[in-house]
Amino acid sequence: MEPLICPFCGGTDLIEGEEREIELEGEYWIIFHWSCMHCHETFDKVLTTSLEEAYEEDEHWS
Ligand SMILES: [Zn+2]
Repeated sequence: MEPLICPFCGGTDLIEGEEREIELEGEYWIIFHWSCMHCHETFDKVLTTSLEEAYEEDEHWS
């Protein structure tokens, strides 16, 4: 994962929280939760990939 910066204070002391995975309209969303140790704000970062990419280790649709 690339280094992240807190959008509130610009700090880099972040704690990664639990992530959630959602399937939405043919896309696969991974939502990461972060907490900043500096200003104690929390924020999310969403990563979207196509379902095809997310499941590429599984069997392909026939
Ligand atoms: Zn912060």
